[in-house]
Amino acid sequence: MKSKGTLIVISGPSGSGKGTVVKALKEMMPELGLSVSATTRAPREGEIDGVDYFYVTRDDFEEMIEDGDILEYTTYCGNYYGTPRKEAERITGEGRDLILEIEVDGAGQVKKKFADAVTVMLIPPSLSALEARLRGRGTESEEVIQKRLARAVEEIKLASTYDYVVVNEDGGVEDCARQIRRIIRSECNRSFRMSDVIENFTNN
Ligand code: 5GP
Repeated sequence: MKSKGTLIVISGPSGSGKGTVVKALKEMMPELGLSVSATTRAPREGEIDGVDYFYVTRDDFEEMIEDGDILEYTTYCGNYYGTPRKEAERITGEGRDLILEIEVDGAGQVKKKFADAVTVMLIPPSLSALEARLRGRGTESEEVIQKRLARAVEEIKLASTYDYVVVNEDGGVEDCARQIRRIIRSECNRSFRMSDVIENFTNN
């Protein structure tokens, strides 16, 4: 077993299908940890506190930042989103890989702090497909949809800064999850992650 798990960052614009793909991936690889973020945005219908997010006030969030309890964070469409540090450290400390489903700004912070983190950007097949998905969800106002579309374009421009890019075709959730599983498995065999195993030979 590895002594320390790897951080696997999965980003993708709102409507790229990230949430569904991550769920399918977790079913394929139940051993993966899944970080639950803290946010100041209100829960959407059906979302559960402690499962989808930890829903907190702005004051609470700012206190968490001050206390160093947040691994990375950003403001997105007027709300704070961040990764609670302790839980992430507990899971990776057990040698389990941890999925962080976060946006581009946070992904950059993680890569800076943890050079061995693996970053994957999920993109829709086209901008029109993305718009259709956002509208189809029916959970956001027109103003929020426009904000999220504008942000999506900015995020996709940063795809080349990621280690991997995966296209989520319509109806392609399982396929996408399989592609990400392949990435995770290959990354496990990178020689620098096998140093413990290699040392067993060189020390004898
Ligand atoms: P949503 O409001 O649609 O749930 O999330 C909005 C965006 O925030 C998504 O791109 C999502 O990946 C991102 N996000 C969720 N949690 C975090 C987090 O802890 N940190 C950062 N940087 N982004 C997050």
